[in-house]
Amino acid sequence: MRRIALLCCLAGVLLTWTCVDSARAWVFKEWTSGIKWLQPNVVDPGSPEKAPSDAIVLFDGTDLSAWNGGEKWTIENGYAIDGGNITSKQSFGDCQIHLEFATPEKVEGSGQGRGNSGLYFMGRYELQILDSYENDTYYDGQCGAIYKQSPPLVNASRKPGEWQTYDVVFTAPRFDADGALKSPAFITAFHNGVLIQNHFELQGGTFWDEPPHYTAHDERGPLSIQYHGNPVRFRNIWVRDLMDRPRIAPAGDEQSSQN
Ligand code: MG
Repeated sequence: MRRIALLCCLAGVLLTWTCVDSARAWVFKEWTSGIKWLQPNVVDPGSPEKAPSDAIVLFDGTDLSAWNGGEKWTIENGYAIDGGNITSKQSFGDCQIHLEFATPEKVEGSGQGRGNSGLYFMGRYELQILDSYENDTYYDGQCGAIYKQSPPLVNASRKPGEWQTYDVVFTAPRFDADGALKSPAFITAFHNGVLIQNHFELQGGTFWDEPPHYTAHDERGPLSIQYHGNPVRFRNIWVRDLMDRPRIAPAGDEQSSQN
């Protein structure tokens, strides 16, 4: 008897629920943007050791053939070390980059002379690499700084010799045909997984001896790794090209789009 009463009670709850839901659907109308989005591509996200499936691998620990100047570096034990500035053969505009580095385990020098390198976008915009573990220098020149424009939000440096990661989203600047700045560059960066630059708007190129300023350039440019005389090691470098990735379906393309 008690079981029948319980079943009746459950049925009542379900009936009420259904009625309320139907009434809500009758009174209210679902809002949709009306935009015909393209279906997002499927990407294998990879793993800490493996790049996402749509990434361009610039260094997998075996050779630096994707870089001009890479032949001067030493490659051993899955990393590259020393040798001079290197510049990617391929050019990028808007992009996401992952890079791993380790400043020298044996600490030598101080300030800017300790574990100095840098990741350059388009040959002009430097995200500083430095041994900033208990190493004082000017804040807008320490590891994670947009050089002389923006200190990192926090110092997330690991100890000298330990592997560290940069994950960066770069938005390239745009220029009008007459060379005027149309839209500035932006950088969002994570150092060892910690946010250090949050959509920072660059004021122009990063210079040691000049204030930042823009000079018109192509919408794509190479990536560079700075050699500053310190034996910084690198491994596992990949880029995702974010240019020319339409998200909205062309007019009349109903098959590949959804509301
Ligand atoms: Mg540097």
